[in-house]
Order: sequence, then C-alpha cells, then structure tokens
Amino acid sequence: MKKLILYFTLLILVSCSPKRENVTVISDVGIFDGNTYKPNMHLAFDSDGIIEISSEPIEFKGATVIDGKGKTIIPPLLNAHVHAWNKGHLKEAQDAGVFALLDMHNTDETAKAMRDLRNHIVYAHYYSSGPGATVPGGHGTEYGFYVPTINDSVSPEKFTLDRIKNGADYIKILREPIMNTIDFKQTDEVIRTAHAGKKLVVAHVSFPEDAARLGAQQIDGFAHLWFSKPRANAGQWDSILKSKAFVIPTLYVTKKVLEEWEQRPWRDEWLEFEDVLKEVKLAYDKGMIILAGTDAPNNDFNFGTDLYEELKLLSKAGIPNIDVLKAATTNISTCFKLKEFGVLEKGKPASFILIHGNPLNNINDIEKMEQIWKLGREIK
Ligand SMILES: [Zn+2]
Repeated sequence: MKKLILYFTLLILVSCSPKRENVTVISDVGIFDGNTYKPNMHLAFDSDGIIEISSEPIEFKGATVIDGKGKTIIPPLLNAHVHAWNKGHLKEAQDAGVFALLDMHNTDETAKAMRDLRNHIVYAHYYSSGPGATVPGGHGTEYGFYVPTINDSVSPEKFTLDRIKNGADYIKILREPIMNTIDFKQTDEVIRTAHAGKKLVVAHVSFPEDAARLGAQQIDGFAHLWFSKPRANAGQWDSILKSKAFVIPTLYVTKKVLEEWEQRPWRDEWLEFEDVLKEVKLAYDKGMIILAGTDAPNNDFNFGTDLYEELKLLSKAGIPNIDVLKAATTNISTCFKLKEFGVLEKGKPASFILIHGNPLNNINDIEKMEQIWKLGREIK
C-alpha cells in the first residue's frame, strides 16, 4: 500500500510539474525503440531524458516542435568489434551515431586511458577486453605492441585474473591455429576463471571446429563468424548452439579479406563470400543472436560510417531489417550488459538518432542521419 501511495504521489508531482524547460517534441514520427517499430508516434524530451512517447500528439507549452513525418527515430548505434586507441576514434564514432565501441584486443594501458573518457559528451563510450588471451607467437602478438601472453610462467588463470584486475570489461580469447595458438585446455581455464569473476568471454575464431570446441566450453560469444571451408556441420552446430553464444559476424572485413586473398595460394581453403552470407543467415535462423561489429581499423575501416556497411551486408544476408537494427543496438547492450544503453522509453536518457526515411524498409536509409541527440543535447 505504501508503495501505491508513493506511486500516486509521484504521478501527481510529475503530471503537475511545470518546471520542464527546453522541451523538444518530435511529432508524427516512426520509432524503432530497440525492440519494436511503431509508426506515427510522438516523442517529447529534454536534457533530463525522454518525457513521453505516445501515439497521441503531445502538447508542451513553449516546446520546440520537429515535424517527424517521413522520418524514423532509432537508438544510438553500437559497434561490438573494434580496436581503438585514441580520442579521434571515439569522436569519429559518435559523430556517425555510434555511441559505443567495444574493443577486442588492446593494451591494458590504452584501454584504461580510453575508458577514462567514458563520460565525455563528444566521445563514444569505450569498453575493452584489454589484451586477448594468446600464447607467444600467437595471433595478437604480430602488431608491434607488447602484449602479455599465457606462457610457462603465466597460467591461463593468472592471465585472466590480471585482465580482470586491470579493469577488463570482458575477456577475449584469440584462437587462430594458422599461427601458434592457445590450446583448448588453456581456453577452458580462461573461460572458467572469467566466469567465476563474472566476466563474459568472447573468442576470435576462423574455423567452425574451433567454434564447436569453444561452444562446448560455454563461451559467451564469437568475435567473428568462422569462414574456413567447409561450412559448419550438424555436430558442430549442435555444440555451438548449446553454448547459446552470440556472434559478431564482421561481414564487411571478411569480405575485404577474401577479396585481398583472391590471388593467394591459400584462397581455396576459405569460403566464397556468398557462402559466408548463407552461414550468417543460418546462424540467425538457428537462433544465434547477431551483433554488428566492423573490426575497425582493420582494412582501413573508420570507426563511424563503416558500421553502416556492416548493417547493409547483414541485410543482404537475409536478416530482416528490424533484427539488423537490433544487431547494432539492443542485442549489443543486452549481451554485454551495457546499462548505459538499451530501449528508448520514458525516463531513459534522451540519446537517439532521427533518420530521414525508414531503415526498416530500406537499410540504406541508415546513412541519412539528420539529427543526433546525446543526453538531450543535439550533437549533429
Ligand atoms: Zn579484431
């Protein structure tokens, strides 16, 4: 009862509150809130957050009104696979409506410096695994910067505890058998240690058999879709699906890599891009949660608009556009438990994008961002 009285008191306070200033109303607009799409909606907000979302016109004395006819509001985009190391990357992302970058292999020091920029209005929010779990001479050690490894004197458990101590938001495993690579006894220990410390584990894989082995070890997600020949078989799919892992297919970078390898002797060992698209669609049809990520700056991809290309490829693979948009918004915030991001609703931060057109009908409309707000402030 006490709760009920409090609720009604709050309701009266809110509905009588005349103190809202600088309110903006976007009228007659399509809204994809991160879950569902509704046409002909009205949204009011100010710097404190979203005041109201309604199918009825919203009246606010003195409000700025934006005609939303022919336009769509979507939550800010998020990119689930990058490697970023300076402020410019974070600004480039946010200017393109990408409000968070999830780094998948970096140094502890860089990750910390980037995380410290989290609450800055002009930068995208940064999350990171810090250095991925690898071995001497393994994937991740070839980029010219120092990375700690699992070796004779550093156990998988110690490696993982060090990452957690250094602030890792999640743990990354780099499983790549075309080089020296972390073995499955080691990945098992990394995953168990990370889970005991309440951290998700995401793995780099290129081979379906590796995805299957890691699936059996309860990996939480894959940082790429495997793209070696042949495609995953039934037994491998069973093991992958049992883990309920999500996948970040990184189609755009895979497409570029396959193009680059066209004349290379090993090209035949890898799938045609058309088959990669089929594998992504199959993963979707089998219920895997799809997350959008680009692996920028690989292939000279930028941290902003190149995410749109990933969305177009996910759509081309046959994933419905509403789920393509979820792949770049709520699927990421849900899988990685990013409490700063989520569904657009009353009381939530006024951070969203107004698009000319409707990306649910035509994914190419994602490029037509007209206005972007962060915490009620217009940044574009
Ligand atoms: Zn990567």
